[in-house]
Amino acid sequence: MSDKISHISNEDWETRVVQGDLVVVDFYSTECPPCETLAAKFESLAEAYGDYIKFYKIFRQENRELAESLGVESSPTLLFYKNGELFGDILRGGVKRSEIIRNLDAMLTGDIVDSIKSSQRVTETECELLILGAGPGGLTAGIYAGQAKIDTIIVDKNLAGGQVSTTHQVSNYPGFDEPQPGFMLMHYMGEQAVKAGIKTRYAVDVTNIDLENKIVEIDGLERIKAKKIIISTGSSPGELGIPGEREYKGKGISYCATCDAKYYDGKHVIVIGGGNTAIEEALFIAKFASKISIVHQFAELQANKIAQEKAFAEEKIEFIFEHEPREFKKNEAGGMVVEIEELKTGKRREISADGIFIFAGMKPNIDDFDGVFQLDEWGYIHTDELQRTNIKDIYAVGDVASKPYRQITVAAAEGTVAAITISKELE
Ligand SMILES: Cc1cc2nc3c(=O)[nH]c(=O)nc-3n(C[C@H](O)[C@H](O)[C@H](O)COP(=O)(O)OP(=O)(O)OC[C@H]3O[C@@H](n4cnc5c(N)ncnc54)[C@H](O)[C@@H]3O)c2cc1C
Repeated sequence: MSDKISHISNEDWETRVVQGDLVVVDFYSTECPPCETLAAKFESLAEAYGDYIKFYKIFRQENRELAESLGVESSPTLLFYKNGELFGDILRGGVKRSEIIRNLDAMLTGDIVDSIKSSQRVTETECELLILGAGPGGLTAGIYAGQAKIDTIIVDKNLAGGQVSTTHQVSNYPGFDEPQPGFMLMHYMGEQAVKAGIKTRYAVDVTNIDLENKIVEIDGLERIKAKKIIISTGSSPGELGIPGEREYKGKGISYCATCDAKYYDGKHVIVIGGGNTAIEEALFIAKFASKISIVHQFAELQANKIAQEKAFAEEKIEFIFEHEPREFKKNEAGGMVVEIEELKTGKRREISADGIFIFAGMKPNIDDFDGVFQLDEWGYIHTDELQRTNIKDIYAVGDVASKPYRQITVAAAEGTVAAITISKELE
């Protein structure tokens, strides 16, 4: 560990932090993958900023009372202090280097910040395989590549786990007779990949991607050059693109029931969509909300039969068929209002609720690739049966790649195919 980081405990809090000058404290736990991800960033930032700001680590499990008194409920949590006062952001979970730097810089004068920045050098790293995206597709490729002794680095903008980490329960992944919480399934997959020997760069900013030369730059500080790259960046919930959507995203409009349904205990929620995801998520929201209004553009739901039966049997759910949302607004009480249009008549009316969930299909995460890939008609990356794209030595697997069905098993299977193909090609 850097000698610019000190371990402290609650007895040191008053003298080191409250009476300190400029301080950053990392509340960490053991057996906590996000804490390990943060630890490497904390080390290197302590080296860069440690002459001006004190870097402390405090073991949360042994200092629980102090942590609770400060409102620190999860690990890792980073707190910044200036002259004994809490300063800047409280950072939790998959903390990015850029978020920490923003807060550290704000504590210092411009001259000091400039001198720190001018002393930072971009490092060059080489590997055989770089995987972009640590969901089931990327992690399975990582497990196979690691076990084949391929020198592999897996990079993700967030923590590992992808979309499944925010899925409440997974009941169709083979090997488990009971439904598994999505985040646990992905925790095991991530640990298995690390045990197979892959290196990780999680919760980073991907600052440049040069697919032709197979170089990916992260955090503006490390350039990773690979012989082969697998793109496993998945897909994201589609936006409706109507007024008010961007404005109220995260402030009344959500795209993730697992993340946000708990905030609507005993409240009224509007769900937009009628496919599998919309109906399954509406059923999950029904565990919390007192009323759910499903607004769907067609006269029937598109979800599978079992989900439909459950939804029709759920008394809390009402259906508003053949309507589309046109605008989102807030009402005076701070609740959400949706203007909906009846498609047959063109008649518009407003409905109000405490929150809105949008499940309007998905779109591939390809914005970082500058239009270099051959795509299918829906915008997903076209591959051959070995997951090779139109660019030599670049592969695509999982939800980002063209296919009829997007599931965990399919992403894992494609990750397998790409990694075995690469292993043979590298021999
Ligand atoms: C609500 C919901 C419920 C679902 N339930 C099930 C289910 O029960 N069973 C099932 O089999 N499937 C389910 N699915 C589908 C399943 O989640 C996906 O098929 C699967 O996650 C695809 O895996 P992936 O690795 O391709 O992508 P993802 O899981 O989406 O992972 C992609 C990763 O790439 C990262 N990333 C994105 N862009 C970049 C970039 N430029 N650089 C670096 N990293 C990047 C992301 O942070 C993410 O971690 C569900 C999907 C949803 C939305």
